[in-house]
Amino acid sequence: MSIEKTLSIIKPDAVSKNIIGKIITRFEDNGLYLVAGKLLHLSDDDAGGFYQEHKGKPFYEDLIKFMTSGPVFIQVLKGEDAIIKNRELMGDTDPTKAKKGTIRADFANSIDANAVHGSDSQTSAIREIRRDPEKSGKTPYQSCRALFVIQSLPRKKLLNAALRG
Ligand code: ADP
Ligand code: MG
Repeated sequence: MSIEKTLSIIKPDAVSKNIIGKIITRFEDNGLYLVAGKLLHLSDDDAGGFYQEHKGKPFYEDLIKFMTSGPVFIQVLKGEDAIIKNRELMGDTDPTKAKKGTIRADFANSIDANAVHGSDSQTSAIREIRRDPEKSGKTPYQSCRALFVIQSLPRKKLLNAALRG
């Protein structure tokens, strides 16, 4: 077991259903800590960055359209075996196949509008998180033009981030 960080996105369908809190509660109840997060509207480039591996697949264009159709809540979760734990809590990509009690079984409408995204491996998590603020001291998600409130930021930086965000 190791402490990991993983990237999670609450997709536009779940944001529009007003269930951000219900989804975050699943993470909190299962030992995952929200260490960064922001509500934002992804650009095509932002969304493409999270789904590079699917470029060229038949569903890719619709996926990007969907991910940019409204606000998402993008967050970094931290905890023991966070990557696999998040995937387990999410459930199968297709909500009709997802185990009872998983986020997708309980909240998703379809394979396209399936409530959440989660990094699928350590490599993806590192790529998706892109910058670790604790190591680089930089604001994460600059590519998403988002400002994240990070626990580890000094008070003054936190205040500036809140004012700018
Ligand atoms: P996951 O989100 O479980 O990691 P994938 O990485 O395989 O799943 O796919 C990324 C996203 O693309 C899925 O969450 C889903 O929204 C969409 N998707 C995947 N497969 C299909 C499909 N066959 N038809 C429509 N959309 C799909
Ligand atoms: Mg995936």
